[in-house]
Amino acid sequence: MGRVLIIGAGGVSTVAVKKIAMNADVFTDIMLASRTKSKCDAIAAAIKNVKIQTAQVDADNVDELIKLFNSFKPELVVNLALPYQDLTIMDACLACGVNYLDTANYEPIDEAKYEYSWQWAYQDRFKEAGLTAILGCGFDPGVTGVFTAYAAKHHFDEIQYLDIVDCNAGDHHKAFATNFNPEINIREITQKGKYWENGQWVETEPQEIHKPLNYPNIGPRESYLLHHEELESLTKNFPTIKRARFWMTFGQEYLTHLRVIQNIGMSRIDPIMYNGMEIVPIQFLKAVLPNPGDLGENYTGETSIGCRIRGLKDGKELTYYVYNNCSHQAAYEETGAQGVSYTTGVPAMIGAKLFMQGIWRKPGVFNVEEFNPDPFMKELNEQGLPWHELFNVDLEL
Ligand code: NDP
Repeated sequence: MGRVLIIGAGGVSTVAVKKIAMNADVFTDIMLASRTKSKCDAIAAAIKNVKIQTAQVDADNVDELIKLFNSFKPELVVNLALPYQDLTIMDACLACGVNYLDTANYEPIDEAKYEYSWQWAYQDRFKEAGLTAILGCGFDPGVTGVFTAYAAKHHFDEIQYLDIVDCNAGDHHKAFATNFNPEINIREITQKGKYWENGQWVETEPQEIHKPLNYPNIGPRESYLLHHEELESLTKNFPTIKRARFWMTFGQEYLTHLRVIQNIGMSRIDPIMYNGMEIVPIQFLKAVLPNPGDLGENYTGETSIGCRIRGLKDGKELTYYVYNNCSHQAAYEETGAQGVSYTTGVPAMIGAKLFMQGIWRKPGVFNVEEFNPDPFMKELNEQGLPWHELFNVDLEL
């Protein structure tokens, strides 16, 4: 056994499929299915050492998914399509007795709002069926949850302050492009900011709070407080956390483009009529922006994502910073995709691998921090995302 079905054929999928094929001792058969079959075929063409099939599927349609799952009979479905498809894919998994993994939590297409409640509501059904669902297994969410679980297990008696810091110091040499699906990315960044403090959520205006933070091997970068989905699960799973925040770097050029896009109505998610046809402006915008999966060739620089944690160990205060830096060029040379696709696709493969090996497997719906972080941390070092630790440093936050 080792049959995995991957849905979606974008940048993240390109990396995940290549890395899955590099772990052929665990994965024996791949089915890659997406809305556009030719994109699956292009990815599959580079895979030589593992059996790979491709198919067309509309993942919004549960019946189509059920037909596909029943024909291929995978042990695990890795959802690398869009957050809109999470629930239909989970429904099909339950109908066919298949396990599930994704990298982004559910978001309704007609409302720019993401939260775990919709997927956590599947807990009893997955548990009763004896199936595992692993939620948010990319980098952030994903590795950031594993980093936090690792810190809690090995370094802290009590985690009190958590700041997740995400820096992309890369240059793709385009005037404006997003590093993953533009529609999802722009919806995320234009939302209000939110962070957890003293048992409640505090809301901010978009990009209202920002400060320069120093990133290893990169230097200072202006970092903006955003809401991010792992804050919801981490504050639930580590209730000693008094404050949890998420910071992401943006350049001025990016923010100026974003402001213009919003001001001229191109980030609207509601349908409008154009020449007798209904279109959604943000979906039209996605169609004309650079494809994130194609940015790799001229992408220079690196990403740096990590967790800055303050808490108690043996009654004393401890500060801890665990992070990975990923070079866009190295990612491209290995997989043909840029660093953001790489830092998401590699962890998705690792989660799938640990599931297949029976290491991350338990009936129910879980966020990554609810599994043993140690085997995942070991795989990160071996699969291209090595991590580093700093103790008792100035966290700047
Ligand atoms: P892309 O837009 O490049 O790829 C998405 C793929 O899903 C496309 O191939 C698309 O098909 C396919 N798809 C969309 N709708 C459907 C549908 N209804 N049925 C079947 N296939 C469909 O996105 P990325 O690869 O950049 O991102 C993939 C996922 O990873 C997203 O959910 C994103 O939020 C998540 N992500 C998570 C991160 C993390 O760290 N946790 C970081 C970055 C991304 P088509 O090609 O025809 O459009």
